[in-house]
Amino acid sequence: MKEFHCGSLVPGCDWHTRHEEEAEVIRRAAEHMREAHGETVIRESMVEAIRSRIAEARNAA
Ligand SMILES: [Zn+2]
Repeated sequence: MKEFHCGSLVPGCDWHTRHEEEAEVIRRAAEHMREAHGETVIRESMVEAIRSRIAEARNAA
């Protein structure tokens, strides 16, 4: 289970998501960036920033 906390990228944001597939976590995170943070264009550098902050979720149930 992969997990991404938006606050690791955007201080103060407590949105987070988790999914089995890293690609799906990135997709959801990119969608959140558009809707919540006004990122109309998701650049490769943004995707890399998200990817580097995805962690293995502990206590995945
Ligand atoms: Zn956010």
